[in-house]
Amino acid sequence: MQTQQYINGQWVDGAADAIESYNPATGEVIANVASANEAQVNEAVAAARSALAGEWANLLPVQRAEVLFKIADLIEANAEEFAQLETLDQGQPIGVARQVSVAGAANHFRYFAGFVTKIQGTTNPVSFPDTLHYTKREPVGVNALITPWNFPLMILAWKLAPALATGNTVVIKPSEVTPLTSIKLVEICEQAGVPAGVVNIVTGAGNVGALLSSHMDVDHLSYTGSTPTGKAITHAAADSNLKRLTLELGGKAPSIITSSADIDAAVAGNVGGALLNSGQVCAAYTRFYVDSKVHDEFVEKLAGAASSMNVGPGADENSQLTPVVSEKHLGHVTNLIEAGRSEGAELVTGGKRIDRDGFFVEPTVFTGVSDENTIAKEEIFGPVLSVMQYEGQDGLDEVIARANDTEYGLAAAVWTKDIAESQKIANGLRSGAVFVNMLPIPDMAAPWGGYKQSGWGREMGPQAIECYTETKAVWLHYGS
Ligand code: NAD
Repeated sequence: MQTQQYINGQWVDGAADAIESYNPATGEVIANVASANEAQVNEAVAAARSALAGEWANLLPVQRAEVLFKIADLIEANAEEFAQLETLDQGQPIGVARQVSVAGAANHFRYFAGFVTKIQGTTNPVSFPDTLHYTKREPVGVNALITPWNFPLMILAWKLAPALATGNTVVIKPSEVTPLTSIKLVEICEQAGVPAGVVNIVTGAGNVGALLSSHMDVDHLSYTGSTPTGKAITHAAADSNLKRLTLELGGKAPSIITSSADIDAAVAGNVGGALLNSGQVCAAYTRFYVDSKVHDEFVEKLAGAASSMNVGPGADENSQLTPVVSEKHLGHVTNLIEAGRSEGAELVTGGKRIDRDGFFVEPTVFTGVSDENTIAKEEIFGPVLSVMQYEGQDGLDEVIARANDTEYGLAAAVWTKDIAESQKIANGLRSGAVFVNMLPIPDMAAPWGGYKQSGWGREMGPQAIECYTETKAVWLHYGS
């Protein structure tokens, strides 16, 4: 399969050398992904700029909403093809592809379609005589949307749906590792009647993203991916046109299990929260702080549940733990497992690559992990769980401080039946989302984003409208 790019309403080949994309379950090449050169990136940005005026700008809100509803309908009409493609390219279990990735993408378009007719300004009581002051929300303009490889379809929908709802135009740059469903979503936009130039996609590696980051005619860049790349994008934005940035970056979510928790529910929830998509989730639970009274029971049950998961390709409906996305990423995960061992953490289960085709890693649980160990500090983004202990009710302040002792602040979890305890911990955690007794799965109605080095701004929910609009204040003096 040779992929193409979509620029100004035309499907075109890449002008630079194509990149191979692999099936993580077998290691086989499934696609040669087109790669844009600088001229093609410039063409896509110019197309997005000119499409801001004309047909797209002239659609009434109710008509623009209709386009987004149609995209949602078409995602659903093609749901099985999208799900199979996501599993083939990314490796995730087919059930996750259907219920999280594809259903989530359609839901985002429907949610933001509803917003199109509800984007409001304010009238403001300024202290000037005979003056009407009101604000209106206008599209930011040309948006670059750069996405990672872990949930490519759903994360693109987080960005594309609010960008279109607010009347913007976009240039998409999906991850070179998993571009296939993003290209298909652009085909769906074309079928839904999105005018030429409004949605463009350029593909290729990080250098193509870098061309967008430093582009003088991109107004806003929404990026999801690792923190180091987020910093490179921030430098490029500052050194070019100071484009607005929305950054959804890395995470290292703590999960605090108190002695009042329902341990069986906590084990089930933490296995799900840690190992969904083989731990390749920005909000995945990775650092477990367990009250010493329940530590041994929790570790035994956690290791039992993790080690009894069915490991296999995502396309097999029975697989619960599927491969990590690439050979390169597998090396990153196994190196960190090695660091856990060599720094003295106790390996309870797992600990190595599985001897079969594809990029499979055993579900791995460490206990006796110190706060200073590499596996407690660095984002692993794989099926590796690190358990630590704390001492009881009196230790809540201390465990909150330990959970906060990280450069990240995207998500966190608390497992308890005690409401007061849940509030104390939730209030103390410095994190964009705190989940009490549940898995970290986002929802289009709930703002998503991070504290600290997990990012800037919030996507989803009404907050996404702010990301993709400028506020214009109009002052109208009607006195003499
Ligand atoms: P990555 O940083 O390697 O790449 C992300 C995207 O940036 C890709 O499209 C890549 O081609 C592009 N890119 C690379 N270098 C670039 C540059 N210099 N300028 C512009 N673009 C560039 O990230 P990844 O490995 O694809 O994704 C995993 C990371 O994403 C993890 O850190 C994870 O936590 C994070 N993530 C965060 C969220 C969130 O909501 N906060 C969600 C999912 C993933």
